[in-house]
Amino acid sequence: MTSADPLEEVTDLLQQLIRNRCVNDGTATSGHEVRSVETLSSYLAGPGAEMRTYESAPDRGNLVLRIEGSDPGAPTLCLMGHLDVVPASAEGWQRDPFGGELVDGEVWGRGAIDMLGITASMAVATKRLLREGWRPRGTLVYLAVADEEALGTYGAQWMTEQQWDAVKCDFLVTEFGGARVPIGQSPKLPIMVAEKGSHWMRLRVRGVPGHGSMPYRTDNAVVKMAEVVRRIASYRAPADLHDVWMRFIDGLDLPFAQRALLRSGPGLDLALGRMPLGVARMMHAATHTTFSPNVMHGGVKTNVVPDTAEIQVDIRTLPGVGPAAVHRMLRDAVGDLWRDVEIAEEGENLATSSPIDTPLWRALTAATERLVPGGTTLPFLVVGATDARFFRRKGVTSYGYGLFSERIPFNEFAAMFHGRNERIDQASLALMVELWSSTVREVLA
Ligand SMILES: [Zn+2]
Repeated sequence: MTSADPLEEVTDLLQQLIRNRCVNDGTATSGHEVRSVETLSSYLAGPGAEMRTYESAPDRGNLVLRIEGSDPGAPTLCLMGHLDVVPASAEGWQRDPFGGELVDGEVWGRGAIDMLGITASMAVATKRLLREGWRPRGTLVYLAVADEEALGTYGAQWMTEQQWDAVKCDFLVTEFGGARVPIGQSPKLPIMVAEKGSHWMRLRVRGVPGHGSMPYRTDNAVVKMAEVVRRIASYRAPADLHDVWMRFIDGLDLPFAQRALLRSGPGLDLALGRMPLGVARMMHAATHTTFSPNVMHGGVKTNVVPDTAEIQVDIRTLPGVGPAAVHRMLRDAVGDLWRDVEIAEEGENLATSSPIDTPLWRALTAATERLVPGGTTLPFLVVGATDARFFRRKGVTSYGYGLFSERIPFNEFAAMFHGRNERIDQASLALMVELWSSTVREVLA
C-alpha cells in the first residue's frame, strides 16, 4: 500500500479482512484469526508501533498495539475490534459473501458491519497517529481479538484474564452502535453504555409412564410441559424504565404526548403495539427481562406416555436483575405448575453497565456533532452481548459505538448482523476513521 489516502486504505484493509474468512462456527478449531492478525500487523508496522501477537490457542490470534503515553497519571484508551465473523452461505446473497467486492461505493461481505469495518477503521486511525509521530499524554491500545462470535473464550475473555497488563485501560470503545435511530427529526446516534445479561435455564417436568393406548387421566410430562411453555410465552414481565431508557427517550425530539407515553409502563406497552415490529422488538427488549422458550424435548416412543420433558429458556436480564428476581418472575409466569418444575441447569451472566457522563462520552459526542450536521448522541443498551462485558467487569468504562452514514439506518444495520447481503458504504468507513482519530486525540491529549 503506497497511498496514505484514508478512504482508500480503510477500503483496502476491510476487503482483505473479509477475504481472510475468519469464520467462527463455535468450535475451538475454527476462526483462524491469525490470518487477519498478520494482515493488520503488516499494515500497522512502522516506527513507534509497539506490537505483540497473542495466540490463545493454535491459530486463534489476538493483536495488541500500544502507543505509550508520556504521563503515567493520564488515562489509557483502548479501541477494540473483533476479527472473526459468523458463517455465511452464498445462497440468498447478491454478491460473494467472502469476495470483499466494492460495488457502487459499498464494500460487500460477511463482517462488513459486524464488525470488520470498525476494526479496519480503528486500525487506519491508529496508523495515521503513528505516521504523525503523535506522542500523547495518555496511552492508546489498539486491540484486535478473536472469538467474539462464540462468547470470547479465545479472545476478549482470554486477554482480560491471561494478559491483563497488555490491555488494561480506563476507557474502551468497541461495537455496536452509531446507526441512526429511525425516530424523530435530526440524526440521533446511540452509544451503547450497557448490555443485558443472560440467565439460560433448562427446566424439567416429570410424569408417570404408561401405555399410549390408554391416555385417560394419565400424568403426561409432555402435556404438562406444553402448558408450562404456553405460560412462559404469554408472561408479561413488568417494564423497567431505567435511567438509560429515560435519557434515550428524552433525547429523541418527540412530541410531548408521545414522550409521556414512552416514559410510563402502561403507556410503553400501548406504544409498542403501534410501532413497526423491528423497532418494537428492540424497545421491548431494552425495557424488559425477556423469556424465550427455544428448545423442547420430551418422550421416547409413540406408544409410551412420557415420564419427562425438558425445555431450554433463553432469559435476558436487565442491569440489576439477579438470579432471585429471575426465579421470582418465572414463578409468577408458571403459576401453580411451578411446584412440578425442576431446575435442571442454569447459567448466570449478569448485565453490565458504564456511567454516561465521562470524558469518553464527551469526546465521542463532540466528534459526532462535528461530523454529522445536526446530529447528536443518545445512550442506549445492547440487548445481546458484546466483548465490552469483560472490560466492564474489570471496572473499565466501555461503550459500543461506530458512526454510520444515512445509507445505513438503524433497522437495516440491525438486520445485516448475521444476515444476508451484509455491506458497508465508504462514507461510513471515512466517518469512522475521523471519529476514532479525533476521539483518541481528545481523550489522551
Ligand atoms: Zn460483532
